[in-house]
Amino acid sequence: MKIICIGRNYVDHIKELDNAIPTSPVFFLKPDSALLSRNRPFYYPSFSNNIHYEVELVLKISKVGKNIQKRFANTYYQEIGIGLDMTARDIQDAAKQKGLPWTIAKGFDFSAPIGKFFPKEQFPDPKNIAFRLDLNGNAVQHGNSGMMIHNFDDIISSISQFMTLRTGDYIFTGTPAGVGPVKLGDKLEAWIEDEKGLTCAIK
Ligand code: MG
Repeated sequence: MKIICIGRNYVDHIKELDNAIPTSPVFFLKPDSALLSRNRPFYYPSFSNNIHYEVELVLKISKVGKNIQKRFANTYYQEIGIGLDMTARDIQDAAKQKGLPWTIAKGFDFSAPIGKFFPKEQFPDPKNIAFRLDLNGNAVQHGNSGMMIHNFDDIISSISQFMTLRTGDYIFTGTPAGVGPVKLGDKLEAWIEDEKGLTCAIK
């Protein structure tokens, strides 16, 4: 199983981090050891002083595919969930400055909390799925799949030109604006439409 994450997929988030708008999806990987499931707590790692949350819609790949055409891409996932692309922003910023890979900043242990998955039929229009992140009960990120630069079909097609998608892979589809730091004792709750998909306590 692999976890593929899309970066820079929402214009408002690109602006808040002062990045350029990409013409094709920017993606990176997290290892399977990054997965944190079943609403387990996230333990703040000792190597960073600036861990950020990024709430994202997550696709669970349901069959093997490569060179997938956009028009068939929606047959490669049956479930949609919500997850957090936990990011060591201090390590990422240092890597960016030196032109080095983001691997540690994005792929450290338990940097990919995922929640409940829902049948895709529950969201009839994949280009209009609202989602939200609450931090200690206050909404901090609002997103809608309609605001993505590269939609689900574009993402699946693009990734599969380079890497074979396999059953059980996860795709994190990018975060909207409002990313920010967590601290010990925080509680994150992520919603897709009116369904709570994920709870994560920071310990
Ligand atoms: Mg992200």
